[in-house]
Amino acid sequence: MEIFDGKKVSNEILSEVKEKIDKLNKKLGLAIIWVGNNEASHIYIKNKLKRCEELGVKGNLYHLDENTTEEEVITLIEKLNNDNSIDGIILQSPVPNQIDIIKCFNKIIPSKDIDGFSNISLGNLLLDKPGHISCTPKGVMKLLDYYHINLDGKSVCLINRSIIVGKPLFNLLIRRNATVTMCHSHTKNLSEYTKNADIVISAVGKPKFITKNMLKDGAIVIDVGISRIDGKVVGDVDFDDVLDKVAYITPVPGGVGPMTVAMIFENLLESIE
Ligand code: NAP
Repeated sequence: MEIFDGKKVSNEILSEVKEKIDKLNKKLGLAIIWVGNNEASHIYIKNKLKRCEELGVKGNLYHLDENTTEEEVITLIEKLNNDNSIDGIILQSPVPNQIDIIKCFNKIIPSKDIDGFSNISLGNLLLDKPGHISCTPKGVMKLLDYYHINLDGKSVCLINRSIIVGKPLFNLLIRRNATVTMCHSHTKNLSEYTKNADIVISAVGKPKFITKNMLKDGAIVIDVGISRIDGKVVGDVDFDDVLDKVAYITPVPGGVGPMTVAMIFENLLESIE
């Protein structure tokens, strides 16, 4: 059994990114728009800004009031689209109910859409055209590649169908000739799918959701889920329970999470390349 070390891999990627950033003749600028006061968002944003500092990127946080209107968010996005000192724009999810997040994602110009959530970025992915690929799916693929996991002909059970994780990842996996079954909350007899899969990717957000009896021997398990139990971050997989059954597994924390952050900066660099 081997543990995929997302922290190590992401640090390696980030040091390559830093080398490239250091050679640029401009300082990269990242804009993060945070509407409201979601506690988890606060932690993610702090991490992103800390990374900005380490990499010599100018991190600009636009923290807007809980009651901010959709029009105000769009006005800010349009201003940032036209600001040459900004190379990437992140609209932190979730946003308050009065804001249509998809509409706002679509106001970010494709070159600055480093999260890859706009119709154009997602469409490019679907059509195998160049464009920003969302960070978590891209990070999962990088991790699999780092550990030389051959996806050709492999059966993958992907439990998630969101635009943040499942839909982009589905496309990246089939691009690499995996056979992907996409499961969700209406899937009946989920373990029939997981048990037959060479690779199980879970992004549900429920602790201990994946247990040993749901996996085949030697499965590869990628745990994207993030939940908190008594302040402690945990994934979807009952880690200790499955350890003697799997060939490879990602820990939480220290697996997909750091890969996601690394991909933000890889995408930011690609914005100007
Ligand atoms: P989401 O939109 O709520 O997606 C959850 C998915 O799980 C949905 O597709 C849902 O199905 C499915 N699901 C829920 N209950 C299920 C069940 N009993 N059986 C099978 N499928 C079930 O959330 P998200 O934004 O995609 O994020 C998913 C998880 O990944 C969260 O824990 C989030 O914190 C984490 N995440 C981690 C990272 C990272 O960097 N590690 C990045 C992004 C997200 P339906 O579509 O039918 O509702």
